[in-house]
Amino acid sequence: MTSETPVRIAIVGAGMGGLASALALAKAGHKDITVYENAPGLGFVGAGIQLAPNMARILDRLGCWKQIAAEAVQCANTSIRDGATNKELGYVALDYVKETYGYPHMVGHRASLAGAMYDGCLKEKSITFKLGSTVSDVTFSPKPAFKVTLATGDEPYRVECDILLGCDGIKSNTRVAMLKELGETVGVENTGQAAYRILLTRDQMKDDPELLALIDSDTVTRWIGAKRHIIAYSIDSKNIYNISTAQPDNNFAMAPSATYTTTGSKSEMMKVYDDFCPMIHRMLNLVPEGEVCEWKLRVHEPLSTWVHGATALVGDACHPTLPHLAQGAAQAIEDAAVLGVTLAPSRISSSDPSSINNALKIYESVRKDRAEALVNLAAENGRSMHLGAGSAKEERDKMFAALKTGKGPVPDKWADADVQRMIYGHDCVEEAEKACKEQGIRAKLST
Ligand SMILES: Cc1cc2nc3c(=O)[nH]c(=O)nc-3n(C[C@H](O)[C@H](O)[C@H](O)COP(=O)(O)OP(=O)(O)OC[C@H]3O[C@@H](n4cnc5c(N)ncnc54)[C@H](O)[C@@H]3O)c2cc1C
Repeated sequence: MTSETPVRIAIVGAGMGGLASALALAKAGHKDITVYENAPGLGFVGAGIQLAPNMARILDRLGCWKQIAAEAVQCANTSIRDGATNKELGYVALDYVKETYGYPHMVGHRASLAGAMYDGCLKEKSITFKLGSTVSDVTFSPKPAFKVTLATGDEPYRVECDILLGCDGIKSNTRVAMLKELGETVGVENTGQAAYRILLTRDQMKDDPELLALIDSDTVTRWIGAKRHIIAYSIDSKNIYNISTAQPDNNFAMAPSATYTTTGSKSEMMKVYDDFCPMIHRMLNLVPEGEVCEWKLRVHEPLSTWVHGATALVGDACHPTLPHLAQGAAQAIEDAAVLGVTLAPSRISSSDPSSINNALKIYESVRKDRAEALVNLAAENGRSMHLGAGSAKEERDKMFAALKTGKGPVPDKWADADVQRMIYGHDCVEEAEKACKEQGIRAKLST
């Protein structure tokens, strides 16, 4: 089946899932892709991000991995430490990852990841960006349509398309509209957890030899304690030390901002990590007053479906996750890669809505169980890392200690070899091709 007229694809949100979807669909041969983003400009501020091999494999196929890898830092190992004493509980070498999965486990800056995908999109004539454009009032029949409100204050307008992808993150308007249409409600859940996200420069750390050793290392370090942990690694060619924490959300009653971020209190942060070791106090104390960025960590129950007619949800809009497995963006990018296969122009037609719905259903069948399994595993990893005194913690720490003899599973799941096999060893593009074949959808026509 080849489309006679170009299929009009509208993408809501130019975040991780939106940029990757636009690029994957353009590379698949689509000619009419418009990305609506409510931010007036794509500054891509933010913190560090883990760039796992399953993400790297996709970005390499999309032609933007080299640019990201050039600025990223390769992780040689991970050290899990007791926050109170800084004593190493467990150590895992990660250098095997590249040989086994084709890509190393790297860490980088979000700006670098999003910027490379955006640069890739700008090279594609078929992609148009509409910035400062907020999408609302989504309707689904006979074709998807929505209202666009402009940051400039100009008259809002309405758009109809053949395919609508809701890549609009945890607070997705597209999800809300879809659930309303389906007569369902799924509220955003308070996980009871919040995160501080901190970037320290080499200059800020340079006078403290212990801190300097951290920024110079190739180690992802996790300091753990009851109900809290800190994870940290160098990014930006080791010029920045990225620190991300997780702790009870003591401000949960406060109205969340549009992005669930708020300026946190430095004294509150110091209090939360009061019983962590002196080196951590010195590290946190380097954060300038007024620059404590606090994120509320939110998820929601699994949705009954990600697809309605010619509309589908992508990324945090349908599988928001706690960050404890460092897979949220990677999974949004897997969603995009699968859409690039199932929605290939040879498989769908704008004059045949059932071909589009079928392709989106295959996307859901390839992605939903996997993404939701990783959401559950991330929550489980948080529970294990946050154990307080008791037998469960003793068992966990014995498992960490056993790693010295090279035995047994790693309690910090993202560093466990079996979990890595399941996450990094999965080629979602192959899975999508297989699913299309099994469903009798013909392969992409050769041109
Ligand atoms: C503390 C923390 C650490 C993390 N660490 C990692 C990590 O190491 N590795 C990893 O893979 N993931 C990590 N994640 C998860 C990752 O950040 C998210 O899963 C990812 O950003 C989701 O991408 P997305 O495209 O679905 O949503 P987003 O990136 O949130 O993008 C949504 C976009 O849609 C736009 N938008 C929203 N509503 C509208 C609208 N109505 N109209 C138009 N535009 C709209 C927004 O402005 C935004 O640009 C972390 C998350 C947190 C909180």
